[in-house]
Amino acid sequence: MSQQQDATAFTRTAHAALGRILPVDDGQDFADARRGFLGTIPDATIPGATGNPVWSMKPFEFVEGQRPDTVNPSLWRQARLNAIHGLFEVTPGIYQVRNFDISNITFIEGATGYIVIDPLISEETARAALALMRQHRGDKPVTAVIYTHSHVDHYGGVMGVLSDADIRNGLRIIAPEGFLAEAVSENVLLGNVMGRRATYMYGATLPKGPRGHVDSGLGKTVSTGKVTLVPPTESVSTTGSRLTVDGVDIIFQVTPDTEAPAEMNFFFPQFRALCMAENCTCNLHNLYTPRGALVRDARSWSHYIDEASAMFCEDTDVLFASHHWPRWGQDRARDFLAKQGDLYKFIHDQTLRLANHGLNPTEIAERLRLPPSLEAEWHTRSYYGTLNHNAKAVYQRYLGWFDGNPANLHKHPPVEAGARYVALAGGADALLASAQTAYDQGDYRWVAELVNHLVFAEPDNAAARTLQANALEQMGYQAESGPWRAFYLTGAQELRNPRPKSDKPRQGAAGQLRALPAGSLLEALAVRLNGDEIGERTFAFNLTFTETGEAFSLSVRNGVMHHAPGRTTGPADEVSLTCAALIALLIGETTMSDAVSAGKVSGAIAGFQDLLSLLDQFDFWFEIVAP
Ligand SMILES: [Zn+2]
Repeated sequence: MSQQQDATAFTRTAHAALGRILPVDDGQDFADARRGFLGTIPDATIPGATGNPVWSMKPFEFVEGQRPDTVNPSLWRQARLNAIHGLFEVTPGIYQVRNFDISNITFIEGATGYIVIDPLISEETARAALALMRQHRGDKPVTAVIYTHSHVDHYGGVMGVLSDADIRNGLRIIAPEGFLAEAVSENVLLGNVMGRRATYMYGATLPKGPRGHVDSGLGKTVSTGKVTLVPPTESVSTTGSRLTVDGVDIIFQVTPDTEAPAEMNFFFPQFRALCMAENCTCNLHNLYTPRGALVRDARSWSHYIDEASAMFCEDTDVLFASHHWPRWGQDRARDFLAKQGDLYKFIHDQTLRLANHGLNPTEIAERLRLPPSLEAEWHTRSYYGTLNHNAKAVYQRYLGWFDGNPANLHKHPPVEAGARYVALAGGADALLASAQTAYDQGDYRWVAELVNHLVFAEPDNAAARTLQANALEQMGYQAESGPWRAFYLTGAQELRNPRPKSDKPRQGAAGQLRALPAGSLLEALAVRLNGDEIGERTFAFNLTFTETGEAFSLSVRNGVMHHAPGRTTGPADEVSLTCAALIALLIGETTMSDAVSAGKVSGAIAGFQDLLSLLDQFDFWFEIVAP
């Protein structure tokens, strides 16, 4: 196994060059991140069910020291800001617990209790945050929950602030229209691949430390506790609509297709406070998230930020969001909104301008520079999204993956191309020698491109894996973006230590499957039907889910699975089963004979088992940096 390398002279030089062009640090961000501090718990350590921490700042203590030359200086600054944890007063009546998870949880003091905004990812972290709030501001009940948007770091911990009785009693849970569908849909059809790629993006398998995970840019990292989801009791669909929640007036702005497909900003007139959800945070956000997702709409994102400024800024004394620290003062809030909005519109407009000149995405991304007034701000820097990959995202949204060059229309796939490039180079040793020269000259991007061909042609070539890991590592050390660093370092780690083949596939999305209604579950089945094996076979079933009595027709024709509510009119086999049994069968937790003998499945078992055998199991740990 090869070893992690020190930062090279080229990496140190790159850091120094960046250091010279970074905005002046006037200490404002650190002052804002600490302002209104009321208290915290030691190291923000929060134990989970087994006693192991689901969250802790302890492993990140090193960010208080001198910057190591294995970390980008700008990311290091962000990492220090994202290490300031505890309960903070935003303004009298509004409090945030920050850095108890990747996101913020906000508490509004209502007439009789606390309104909770965005209860983090895990039950445990949300519960600890509420306990801290109660310790400092009084032991009051939670009177309502607001989800700003449909991403898991804004709802997953909801059962940490609610009880079953709260749910039965209809406690108000308010979310933007479309929240529930979006919350589940993103994880249904692509849960496995997004989950696996997320392990790269958030550095989940990296050690925490100067050569490992330092920060994700948006926050430290993701907590690892119990994820829950309670559906909203009411949704907000109109901009300008007002609600009074536990005596607190709230004016809403609905912002679909921004940072999330279902998202909203809102304003508290009596506190003169504006919540910008995740639409404005202290970094350039992702128009495309590297874990993989539909590309976001930069134009609409920018439009809604401008609209928020026009609607609320005149009455705003403080602006807060669901990540990072607030901004106080109307002028600063206005300037922040203007620059955040312009940031996304600039990337949008300039990408389209350059595309119209005929540049391809790689060329556009390489060319794009922010104007000086935007570049002079810390909150526009590429800590999470990057200018580079966001420009490619805008191109992809409008023009798709093809750049119009027919040489790129039908390329050989990586393994086949790799073998040809290796042959062209004169064999593996010659390719490696050339790549080593590039490495010695600090051209790590070229090393990564070149040696990738060899790794895909000869995945067991240890020298290739080592050189590739060395190059990715330096790129990780140089990266300002937390996700880029995590991608590079995770790739290097997996090249150095190939993951042993697991005989038991891990179902990354198993937990999410349990939250799905039967119809969505059947939709998820369709993308598991093995198109190579199905041939001309056909199936037709009437499925009855015994928990709910819901009936669905389920059929296969032309290699395609269809489902619809109700019963089929044609001939079909009858199968009764529980939703839970179907999930257990799918993820390999039970066998058909066990499910039948437990009374969980009955009817035309043989045909149903036959169909299930044609469904793929996905291996969560599929290879990324090697074939
Ligand atoms: Zn978030």
